[in-house]
Amino acid sequence: MTAVVSVLVPVALGDCYSYVAPRELAPGTIVRVPFGPREVVGAVWDDAPDTGRSPAKLKAISHVFDAPPPGAPLLDADMRRFVEWVARWTLAPRGMVLRMVLRVPEALDPEPTRPGVALAGAPPERMTPARTRVMALLEGGLSWTKAGLAETAGVSPSVIDGLVSAGTLAAVELPPPTAAARPDPDFHHPDLTGDQSAAADQLRAAVARDAASVLLLDGVTGSGKTEVFLEAVAATVAAGKQALIMMPEIALTHSVIARFERRFAARPAEWHSAVPPAQRARVWRGAAAGDVRIVVGARSALFLPFRELGLIVVDEEHDNAYKQDDRVPYNARDMAVVRGHIGRFPVVLASATPSIESRVNADQGRYAHVILSDRVPGASLPDVRAVDLRQSRPEKGRWLAPPLVAAVGEALGRGEQALLFLNRRGYAPLTVCGACGHRFSCPDCSAWLVDHRLRGRLACHHCGHTEPRPEACPACGALDSLVACGPGVERIAEEAQALFPEARSIILSSDIGGGTERIRRELQLVADGAFDLIVGTQLVAKGHTFPRLKLVGVVDADLGLMNGDLRAAERTFQLLAQVTGRAGRMGGGGSGLLQTHAPDHPVIRAIVSGDREAFYRTEIAERMATGLPPFGRLAAIIISGPDRAETEAHARAFARSAPSGEGIDMLGPAEAPLAILRGRHRFRLLIRSPRTVDIQAYLRAWLAAAPPARGGVRVMIDVDPQSF
Ligand code: ADP
Ligand code: ZN
Repeated sequence: MTAVVSVLVPVALGDCYSYVAPRELAPGTIVRVPFGPREVVGAVWDDAPDTGRSPAKLKAISHVFDAPPPGAPLLDADMRRFVEWVARWTLAPRGMVLRMVLRVPEALDPEPTRPGVALAGAPPERMTPARTRVMALLEGGLSWTKAGLAETAGVSPSVIDGLVSAGTLAAVELPPPTAAARPDPDFHHPDLTGDQSAAADQLRAAVARDAASVLLLDGVTGSGKTEVFLEAVAATVAAGKQALIMMPEIALTHSVIARFERRFAARPAEWHSAVPPAQRARVWRGAAAGDVRIVVGARSALFLPFRELGLIVVDEEHDNAYKQDDRVPYNARDMAVVRGHIGRFPVVLASATPSIESRVNADQGRYAHVILSDRVPGASLPDVRAVDLRQSRPEKGRWLAPPLVAAVGEALGRGEQALLFLNRRGYAPLTVCGACGHRFSCPDCSAWLVDHRLRGRLACHHCGHTEPRPEACPACGALDSLVACGPGVERIAEEAQALFPEARSIILSSDIGGGTERIRRELQLVADGAFDLIVGTQLVAKGHTFPRLKLVGVVDADLGLMNGDLRAAERTFQLLAQVTGRAGRMGGGGSGLLQTHAPDHPVIRAIVSGDREAFYRTEIAERMATGLPPFGRLAAIIISGPDRAETEAHARAFARSAPSGEGIDMLGPAEAPLAILRGRHRFRLLIRSPRTVDIQAYLRAWLAAAPPARGGVRVMIDVDPQSF
């Protein structure tokens, strides 16, 4: 009995198409279908199929993936609604959102089995000590992989082979390994402080309510937030539901996995780019089948097809890493709230420095505000001071002012760790020829090349272009004439090593080479105390606990404050609070020094005084006065193309086609802050609307009315852009 069904295809220019199915298929069933010259994996969708065309003219579904349990749709109604919601919010094609759900093609393959052995006959006549050990392990009647059995019994694989030939054991096919062990919500109960218990009670109550809610878990660094949200995870698991914990840079903040393991006696499933495809496929299937109870993952974990999700925790909810900028520009924190709403379960947003958006939502009562105001006993907040660079100047050609140098010397003298923080990779952000003034810039972007001395290359931080550091200036031919302008971490490390040659020092930056594995290892070495002096970028600002770290020196606290961006103050506040918060996390006694030219800037003052509220008050008042988020809504439209004149002309035509809208302002088109990226010229239009306006509806109407783009020109829309 064939049927006609509607299938959503994961293709940018595609949507739903009708196909002939071998039988009636429920929406959410995953299928392979011919699409143009190739085949794609899509999902049967809720749209009504096209009944106007005769089935004889439709193509047929080539394969139906049967889902666990057999016959049930894999993408349930909530998941499909979520896909629709994200597409509507971001104005991305639905198929592109579906593509994020189906991005592990291996997950749909039949699960591989493994060769194993099981007890099949009488014990062999001749017993040896090795055979006895093997037989002892087999008494429970379980089956083992051959290698696993040999290893556990401490015998060579030939002993197992011998038992198979003797007929004692038989070869069997074992099912694939289960994705994750069952977590035990009661395995280890930590002793929570009074504040923590009260907070945990609130979270557990939200889990028990079985309804949509959002809780902002707001507590200074080291206040024990992780311990608190683990209690919500425990309650969720105990209630038979699945929990998702999202963390920025999860591939690097690996120690948290061990923490989950200590709490639940089982490793959570991990989901991020450094997890190999086969393991990811297992997590995907496990999440869909309900076998995987806890997933700790990056933002893309939000698109896993959980069977019975009951909680999402978004740790460090303010973090920029939750925003995806390309393809489907979405903010995983906001979309997590949407997913909780659709699935009717609580979402916990945790941060020491909540985003202005979340803070306003809490102030206005839309989110429950759960506050941890102190560090756990034994750990006090660091004492932070400003070093006024207008008065204490570094020596010529140096970047560390005398008070910071002195403080580092004292910390090292006491056997403590010190961290010098500068959020700039490489040796110097700009290189010029001292003879002719030539500046090295990217051939494909409007950006300077950054000198990476350790790699011996000049690199573009926008497109990844690199070239060798030349010996002679390409413009004038002068030899050894290159001059580094400004500092990056490598240059600070050079200066620090010259000042403190005895200290064991290390640079922690994402581009040193060696990838995730090396960075993880180095972070662990720092935590173990193998280094005294750390020079790092924002890589070190997040999530890590370095027990011996007592002093954090911020080389340039003003970096990022002056760029005029909507979130400049907020981002700088968050970064400075996070990085100084690394000091004294264990045992207290931490201090921070901020080198600044603007000690009176409200952000610097808030960090120095420890008065977070002062910052939130000022910043929220300013957003309100200017109608910026969350008091107004924004969208950025980037028009890009290979030819500058053609791109600009299209940007102007596009702007002219804007429908009129009550209260809507348009700025531009103007050159985007990064005017050329990967050889494409970029123009930007900024749209601001009151909160009450449905900006998506307005943009959709605009897109429908806009002139078609030609000559490789593309239009990308970013609702709620991170910068403005
Ligand atoms: P946050 O997530 O707020 O930064 P964590 O939960 O990581 O804080 O806790 C900071 C440190 O304090 C960790 O080393 C943690 O093990 C420890 N800690 C948390 N809660 C307690 C507690 N109740 N008693 C003792 N130590 C605690
Ligand atoms: Zn470039």
